[in-house]
Amino acid sequence: MELKLYDTLTKDKRAFVPLDRNNVRMYVCGPTVYDFAHIGNARPVIVFDVLFRLLRHHYGADHVSYVRNITDVDDKINDRAARDFPGLPLNDAIRKVTEQTERQFHEDVDALGALRPTVEPRATEHILEMRAIIEKLIANGNAYVAQDHVLFAVATMPAYGQLARRSLDEMMAGARVDVASYKRDEMDFVLWKPAKPGEPSWPSPGGITVEGRPGWHIECSAMAWKHLGQQFDIHGGGIDLVFPHHENELAQSCCAFHEERMANVWMHNGFLQVEGEKMSKSLGNFVTIRELLADWPGEVLRLNMLKTHYRSPIDWTIKGLEESAKTLDDWYVAAGDAKGERVATGVLEALADDLNTPQMIAALHGLRSSAVAGDERARDEFAASLKLVGLLAETRAAWASRKQQDAGIDAAKVESLIADRASARARKDFKESDRIRDELVAMGVVLKDGKGADGKPVTTWEVAR
Ligand code: AMP
Ligand code: ZN
Repeated sequence: MELKLYDTLTKDKRAFVPLDRNNVRMYVCGPTVYDFAHIGNARPVIVFDVLFRLLRHHYGADHVSYVRNITDVDDKINDRAARDFPGLPLNDAIRKVTEQTERQFHEDVDALGALRPTVEPRATEHILEMRAIIEKLIANGNAYVAQDHVLFAVATMPAYGQLARRSLDEMMAGARVDVASYKRDEMDFVLWKPAKPGEPSWPSPGGITVEGRPGWHIECSAMAWKHLGQQFDIHGGGIDLVFPHHENELAQSCCAFHEERMANVWMHNGFLQVEGEKMSKSLGNFVTIRELLADWPGEVLRLNMLKTHYRSPIDWTIKGLEESAKTLDDWYVAAGDAKGERVATGVLEALADDLNTPQMIAALHGLRSSAVAGDERARDEFAASLKLVGLLAETRAAWASRKQQDAGIDAAKVESLIADRASARARKDFKESDRIRDELVAMGVVLKDGKGADGKPVTTWEVAR
């Protein structure tokens, strides 16, 4: 099956041809670790996890490298460290903040069912590579030293602006007026800057005698180079990263290595807003993954994210979550712990078409209908397809009991009432069987009468939402 992906750079959807099918390489910009990740940050995590899983399915699990960095040097981190640990030396406080935030991030994205990337490099462990790229850029005439900063000279790269599709003139018109005096050109961006006293700092490149620290964009160029090489297949992130972050990564890497491309395909997820509004702390609609996980299983958040195509904006709503939860409850019952050995063609076709997850979900609904009508092959394909995209990770019993715990329902009591009802029905005491059903309904339990594999009647139950 041919995988097609949309490329932000060329603005077209085309067949994906890896540089090396034995080592398909993807880089996705990861979190800056200073606070709990919000549900918008979960979008690239889930979207590129689905792509990672699809690539592994297609090329083999050992033939895909997925790098997602951890940005652990940033002003926001320094500010948070000084605020939260005022008694500690800044560098110790920073370590506390970054380690704690990284741990929280992992707990959150694990709960969303995201596979760990192949490598999760930390920026501060790649300072040597950053300095090496900066030295190359200076030697190539693409960067210059001014007042202990190193700047990238955008005028030396005629193609600058290709990703954002903006000309230099347009970008200059949009740039802020107060341009730092050390810049030759207002669009020039920082590769390296002097550190303030007490801040983390490293020996500087370019013959600068004071210690300094890297700019944000150079971090990703360095980590991608170290772990994926000068050129690789896919570079991803949220749409807000196109300019300036990815434009600048691309400029740095292409100019340092004399390459025409950094990545063959640039992929960007659309933005997520909450209940129709841009998420912001001041509006009070800022939701962390952690808060949502207190109310919803991770799979509900994952399915809810996949209902929208990754390039479209998402409006994240409670109503949507309730629907996703209902769908999953139903799907767990329909899949009925099938082994799940063969992924459905319709699901693979949908995913291969630039990760068309809404179409995939339509295909899943179709498989579900066939499965509950007794088509065992459809049931197996249904289960395998759900597992492929990181759903159905639990057994049906575990899924049901999680809901029972949430609802405070005593499962043993329910089972015993169901057994009493079955014997009442067997002796045709329908008054009693109806009474028991009503008692269960009053407890918040919904009964489903069906037939088991042996044709005998079975009653399953779930917690009413
Ligand atoms: P940040 O920590 O802000 O650099 O964001 C980490 C990742 O989350 C980046 O790929 C961003 O593009 C992405 N991101 C941030 N906010 C949103 C949002 N509201 N919707 C979708 N993606 C987002
Ligand atoms: Zn990046």
